[in-house]
Amino acid sequence: MKIKTAEFVISSSKVEQCPAPGKPEFAFIGRSNVGKSSLINMLAGRKSLAKISSTPGKTKLINHFLINNEWYLVDLPGYGYARTSKSERIAFNQLITSYIIKRENLASLFLLIDSRHKPLKNDLQFIQWLGVNQVPFGIVFTKTDKVSSSVMDSNLSAYRKELKKTWDSLPAFFTTSAVKGIGKVEILEFISNTVLSLKL
Ligand code: GDP
Repeated sequence: MKIKTAEFVISSSKVEQCPAPGKPEFAFIGRSNVGKSSLINMLAGRKSLAKISSTPGKTKLINHFLINNEWYLVDLPGYGYARTSKSERIAFNQLITSYIIKRENLASLFLLIDSRHKPLKNDLQFIQWLGVNQVPFGIVFTKTDKVSSSVMDSNLSAYRKELKKTWDSLPAFFTTSAVKGIGKVEILEFISNTVLSLKL
């Protein structure tokens, strides 16, 4: 898929403010600093569609972008930033969980994970929660240029091993680098196939 147009639509602090759910949407979520803005900009082929965060954890809104007038790309707030207060974290988790549960046109969620890290308990818990709630999702391993292929393979295998304990079939895995432009084709192909299948 070629991205011909990418327009910012709205920043929402509540699910009710999001655009009418008339088009399929694909949302990106991950810990602050995981490389989400960089990945979104790489996918869209724009330098600063999503703001690369100077202050981690700053974006607390749901940002909608309309791509090719056909589907929405959604930038969800980064989670797990330690400097936020507990009450802020709770409000914030509520925003994310209510978006994920309520958004009827959510075709797929992409969970971003830093490929340098071994599986973290919180991320695994979030993945289990997605499964329990039957949310379609894929896992995107970011910043692969920063890690040797042997470390990356071992981290990916650790994820597979953990997930196999409770999942019959594993979600799609994507390996990406915004610096090297890796993974763009695969993610856009996954999105265009999903958009097509929804039309059938
Ligand atoms: P966000 O907080 O998840 O939106 O993360 P950003 O996209 O703002 O990236 C956080 C930091 O990681 C920035 O300094 C980026 O330049 C850097 N970064 C993001 N993606 C990559 C990548 O693929 N490779 C490398 N080497 N650095 C990256």
